[in-house]
Amino acid sequence: MSRYRGKRVLVAGAGVSGRSAAEALLAVGAEVTVTDGSADRLTALASLESQGARLVPGLDAPPEDVDLVVTSPGWRPTAPLLSAAADAGVEVIGEVELAWWLDQDKPEGPSTWLAVTGTNGKTTTVSMLESILRAAGEEVVACGNVGLPVVDAVRAGHRVLAVELSSFQLHWQSALRPKAAAVLNLADDHLDWHGSLESYGEAKAKVFAGNEVAVFNADDTWSSRLVGSAGGRRVSFTLGAPADGQLGVAEDRLLDRAFGTDVVLAELSEVRPAGPHNVANALAAAALARAHGVAAEAVAEGLRTFEPGAHRSVVVAEAAGVSYVDDSKATNPHAADAALRAHDSVVWIAGGLLKGADVEDLVRANAGRLAAVVLIGRDRAEFSAALGRHAPDVPVDEVAAGDDAGMLEAVRLAHDHARPGSAVLLAPAAASMDMFTDYAHRGRAFADAVRAVLSETPAAT
Ligand code: ADP
Repeated sequence: MSRYRGKRVLVAGAGVSGRSAAEALLAVGAEVTVTDGSADRLTALASLESQGARLVPGLDAPPEDVDLVVTSPGWRPTAPLLSAAADAGVEVIGEVELAWWLDQDKPEGPSTWLAVTGTNGKTTTVSMLESILRAAGEEVVACGNVGLPVVDAVRAGHRVLAVELSSFQLHWQSALRPKAAAVLNLADDHLDWHGSLESYGEAKAKVFAGNEVAVFNADDTWSSRLVGSAGGRRVSFTLGAPADGQLGVAEDRLLDRAFGTDVVLAELSEVRPAGPHNVANALAAAALARAHGVAAEAVAEGLRTFEPGAHRSVVVAEAAGVSYVDDSKATNPHAADAALRAHDSVVWIAGGLLKGADVEDLVRANAGRLAAVVLIGRDRAEFSAALGRHAPDVPVDEVAAGDDAGMLEAVRLAHDHARPGSAVLLAPAAASMDMFTDYAHRGRAFADAVRAVLSETPAAT
């Protein structure tokens, strides 16, 4: 019987994970109330009323008789409802913790959880892991921050869960004990939510509590530091030649010296999209798969069949020796750094909402590969100041217009700067919401603009 049967649970947030949490709780016999600041969002859950849920807009304190609050990842701990719950001594958990307990209560026994967190590369890594585990014949699904709520993955009965965990989700986590977990990297992102890099790191470190295997990135200071809290076996990966106990790269091959003796996992050329950051992601995915006992052949097969995600270093066009690359998902400086490093000569389209992040190091480290820069979005001044300091000779254009028209102008300018052998790269290092609905919209606007600009240009004769 479920531990939530007869419990009075308040679900905070009527988005995707709130809906899944409410449905799962109703299914195990809990008394469910759902609240959200937006009455419209709640209306979308109207069908749950016939299953017994109460929908109450705008609660800023939990009702007195509530046993538990399940919050959505977007809610800050300082939201009035969550602070009031904490003051009243009511337990607050996230949707992933709820999924964990529902999984523990399953009659057929819990599934195997393999978890991935980090500032960048999470979705790519869990997707690679899913592909590798499928190749190994496992009944697996990628879930969590990647899209499918973990509660839904558990209810669907998948035996292995490749779980992407954001720091927001980990903040509300205490019981989660994945069999193996990886922290890919840590850089300043979401500091406005967490307050400081330290508390952001603390949230991420929770993923290392109680694993059999803790996977960390030997090339990343924070990842290496966070593993200090891990109790189980520690395995690291590196882009260099692996030492004993590591996975790494030697002679253009991915090599495992942790779960075997010099086991060749795959050819470097089998990792897509190309670029050092994706090699790191592939090594992390391989380490988690190997911790679960997957054979080397399945790692290679899984990487070969992996479908790279949209807006992550995708070449949208090639013309006159110039490639046009959409990395709209580079929403912070650390991700943009990875995207830039994959090219020698770049016309860089950057800018947007920096969310408190600093672009100084990013600009300094990549100044040598910049052929030109086109700045878009709200926080252009931060970029242009850093460029003035570290790349004073690089031409910089600014586009003030927002949305698709602004992107079209930016691509036109970038196209004029591009020379054969260079890449026009959209890797904004910033969030998109000042100009676009989200990063996907920004990426589509870029691809549309590239097509439009290339069709305006007469083909070389
Ligand atoms: P997440 O799910 O953590 O946001 P994604 O796999 O969606 O990560 O990739 C997000 C962005 O981060 C991409 O634009 C990509 O260029 C960059 N990126 C991917 N992997 C890494 C990595 N290991 N280190 C740094 N940046 C990365």
